[in-house]
Amino acid sequence: MATSTCVKCKSTKFEAVLHNPQGSSFNFIFIQCAACGGVVSATEFYNIGARLDKLAKKLNIDLDEK
Ligand SMILES: [Zn+2]
Repeated sequence: MATSTCVKCKSTKFEAVLHNPQGSSFNFIFIQCAACGGVVSATEFYNIGARLDKLAKKLNIDLDEK
């Protein structure tokens, strides 16, 4: 498997950092280079999959039922 590498500084260390970008009403998690801060990706603060599982459990819905 290839090693993930920052395209800006070639570091191989990354971190998740909470951000509230200007003009946004929502928080995001930026996946960024731990050395230079170059942003690789952004994702919603809330993990929608985890929240959906939690909601299904509260409603007693088996999401894997066929
Ligand atoms: Zn970097």
